[in-house]
Amino acid sequence: MTLLGPAAIRDIAARIGVTPTKKLGQNFLHDGGTIRKIVRESGVGSGEIVVEVGPGLGSLTLGLVEAGARVCAVEIDPVLAEELPATVQERFPEASLAVYGADALDVESWEQIAPGWPEPTRLVANLPYNVAVPILLHFLEILPSLESALVMVQSEVADRLVAPPGSRTYGIPSVKTAWYGNARKAGAIGRAVFWPTPNVDSALVHVRIGERPGDDDLRLQTFAIIDQAFAARRKMLRGVLRPLLGDKTAEILALAGVEETLRGENLSLDQYIDIAKAASAIG
Ligand code: SAM
Repeated sequence: MTLLGPAAIRDIAARIGVTPTKKLGQNFLHDGGTIRKIVRESGVGSGEIVVEVGPGLGSLTLGLVEAGARVCAVEIDPVLAEELPATVQERFPEASLAVYGADALDVESWEQIAPGWPEPTRLVANLPYNVAVPILLHFLEILPSLESALVMVQSEVADRLVAPPGSRTYGIPSVKTAWYGNARKAGAIGRAVFWPTPNVDSALVHVRIGERPGDDDLRLQTFAIIDQAFAARRKMLRGVLRPLLGDKTAEILALAGVEETLRGENLSLDQYIDIAKAASAIG
């Protein structure tokens, strides 16, 4: 058996003395069918360079290697990071694997984690629940070569990532993810495929990455406006944006062609970008 089943997962954890912690979102996959479904859905092909965040005991890493991927994995838990190469090499001696032990949010560049490797085309990860959105956005930002990201997150987070403007779950994660591409749900994952069993449901989200709508200055300005607009979700734009845009808020919204009585939850990414551009134009 090349992938990790329930017995192998427990054996490795016991041997290296790992007790999964909630704090690090350590729920490990032990179902080969689910792992292969994730790999299939990710579209990873043989020889592709994949970045995986949070490889844990290696469940998904092995699925990616089985599909012929070259994997660079970033793991915060030093015991897990140290054990991963042995787990993979034992089952796939020819595997191409780089492991970087660090908090994914501290990673600044591809060169830092996989020196000398070609740039990655895919991000595939079963993300830790508590920091899934910051990690996803951070990696989309620092790895512009990515063509797609397939992530497993808590079901409610998946709803937020893919929500369209005006919907109940539309919020900061939805608009910011849209800066990088088009997100869609790619299936639900039950609790029984993890050890330990989590007390939430999970879902897959596939982000097809497109061209960025602007440079970094425009992104930072747009993201600041998004953060401000959702600071008080039910407030109208003319009030909620005032602490950021000042006395010229109404003028900026008029130039952007955005009704000042709308709320943050009604606006598309393009409208946020128009406001950011208007704010720079008016100064
Ligand atoms: N990929 C494995 C699997 O599918 O079985 C493990 C997934 S588990 C949900 C999340 C993993 O992310 C854990 O191994 C945890 O230690 C790691 N992790 C948590 N926070 C992290 C962070 N900030 N940076 C990198 N890895 C992190």
